[in-house]
Amino acid sequence: MIFTDTHTHLYSSQFQEDRNEMMQRSINAGVSRLFVPSIDSSYTQKMYDLESQFPDTVFLMMGLHPTYVKENYLNELAHVETELEKRKFYAVGEIGMDLYWDKTFLKEQQHAFQYQIQLAKKYKLGINIHCRDAFNETFEVLESEKATDLFGIFHCFTGDLEQAQRAISLGMKLGIGGVATFKNGKIDQFLNEIDLQHIVLETDSPYLAPLPHRGKRNESSYITLVAQKLSEIYNLPIEEIARITTENSISVFGI
Ligand SMILES: [Zn+2]
Repeated sequence: MIFTDTHTHLYSSQFQEDRNEMMQRSINAGVSRLFVPSIDSSYTQKMYDLESQFPDTVFLMMGLHPTYVKENYLNELAHVETELEKRKFYAVGEIGMDLYWDKTFLKEQQHAFQYQIQLAKKYKLGINIHCRDAFNETFEVLESEKATDLFGIFHCFTGDLEQAQRAISLGMKLGIGGVATFKNGKIDQFLNEIDLQHIVLETDSPYLAPLPHRGKRNESSYITLVAQKLSEIYNLPIEEIARITTENSISVFGI
């Protein structure tokens, strides 16, 4: 069985003490493909170091995270563009809209999101979307960029069935993680109405650990707990969940 974690913040300082052991646990659990989103330029070198340490397991994305869109965001976008030009990445992410913490840079967030979607198209890459308290604003930008070469993952999807179908109609797969195991997570109630071909697995580690680890540090090996939950929701063996969601991840990342 091969599982794919389509979204892990492997460079997080929360893994500083035991990253190698944690990686070994993941690989032992069959979670051998880890896709790492970018946040801003301060993490770029850490990402490259992880890639050279685990070249067969770690695959990088490049992008500017919406909560890091500040006064200097044009410099950050220039960094994203320089890196994309320089070397291979597997997606542009994580990008999107986040109005949960702060609405000050709403206009700049919209601009950064749209600009990075256009970069993804230019480099023929998928996007990895972060959306928090901003469904309408996110869809507004996505609709304006709707095209056959727009595709990717709606990371940590927490919307309703209608929003799920809207995201899928715009070329997105739904990134499903720990929230699917939460008692009040809600998405488990309609997920079976969505074809498994639109689903990929993710942890968003070190955040959003699935039950029974909720509230503690998350790690890629816990993907198996999310897969177990999907196996119940879809009434399929866990091997099938692993196979289909990994195939779906290959169609997004090209590897
Ligand atoms: Zn993330």
